[in-house]
Amino acid sequence: MRSPRRLLWPFCRGMKMNKLVDFTRPFGLYIHVPFCVHKCNYCDFYSEAFNQGRIKYFLQALQRELELYAELLSAKEISTIYIGGGTPSLLKPSQLEGLLELIFNSFSFTGSREITLECNPSSLKKEKIAAFKKAGINRLSLGVQSFNERELKFLGRLHTPTQAIKVLEEVKKYFTNYNLDLIFALPGQSLEEWEESLKKAVSFKPPHLSLYNLQIEEGTVLDALLKEGKIKEVDDRLDAEMYLLARKVLQEKGYRQYEISNFARPGYESKHNLIYWQYQPYLGLGPAAHSFDGKVRFSNYSDLEIYCQRLSRNQLPVAGVTPLSRREQMSEMLFMGLRLIDGVSTGDFKARFGLELKEVYQDELNRLTGLGLVQFDEEQLKLTQKGILLGNEVFMEFLP
Ligand code: SF4
Repeated sequence: MRSPRRLLWPFCRGMKMNKLVDFTRPFGLYIHVPFCVHKCNYCDFYSEAFNQGRIKYFLQALQRELELYAELLSAKEISTIYIGGGTPSLLKPSQLEGLLELIFNSFSFTGSREITLECNPSSLKKEKIAAFKKAGINRLSLGVQSFNERELKFLGRLHTPTQAIKVLEEVKKYFTNYNLDLIFALPGQSLEEWEESLKKAVSFKPPHLSLYNLQIEEGTVLDALLKEGKIKEVDDRLDAEMYLLARKVLQEKGYRQYEISNFARPGYESKHNLIYWQYQPYLGLGPAAHSFDGKVRFSNYSDLEIYCQRLSRNQLPVAGVTPLSRREQMSEMLFMGLRLIDGVSTGDFKARFGLELKEVYQDELNRLTGLGLVQFDEEQLKLTQKGILLGNEVFMEFLP
């Protein structure tokens, strides 16, 4: 899940965390494991070079962070666990088992009980897949990205299509619930090449697929190539054609699109990611992780050393805290919820803020309905087919 980690929040420093932040109802738990064997060419997530000694150092600090939050928070119930990164599949199954035990000692686990592990095909072997399942993981999210060798090299991925296929064949033996990530709109990629990768992915009948168009982020290898004029971004028309093709292929194969970039067979929607889109609380642990308690956002230092040092002094590794005004919360609820194909429930909005959606956003709704970008009735506000393609224009309207 990329978007919540990509949002930037202004910081207010030096406030007392336990006065500002609390979780009063079940929340999703996200853990950021900040290690990768190699930095992918498009990636701007926080990670450092893989090293077993540093992993142990990190896990000790993470244990302290879990214990501190277990002391601080009123609600001790978590509904989902998502272990992302970085490359958390670099952890040994015994380390993962230890981590889950620590979580269960600190919090009670209720609700959907979904436990997802992000995996890189290059760090997965048959034995490890079986051991992850035994350790308690019940959902895998596989960063396959493409089944085309040239595209994988371009992205700087370490696996080949053949390795991804072998891993998928093994994953299917142990996991009924798993996701494949694919990236499209790569410089030089044709519509046919995208269709080939997509159809290959679908041939495994994965219960869930996440499809993202390539975003070239500041400071990445691809950004440097773009600035040197060595690559060119795909034009918007081809990008949209690729997206529409994917929607058609997946719909024909029985997938339901439930979010702008996410498709699932019935019952396999990502429970953890739904927490972000439905504007529910989540706690993020590990360097660079972001959290939201329902009213306040806060984020950890994006530096493993600072993160570990603070925890060794029993201090939370929080770099910034942003209390949100009511108007900011309303606006966030809309631009997160509008990513969902079912949109935002007007009843949920009223229950949360005590106001009708149309009272607060009458002008914006008139403008967007007039442009054919949203559909609004007594029960729901959602994007139209045209609005799905122009989502950013809609989201901008609701900025406070
Ligand atoms: S494996 Fe994932 S987190 Fe690590 S560099 Fe590649 S994209 Fe980024």
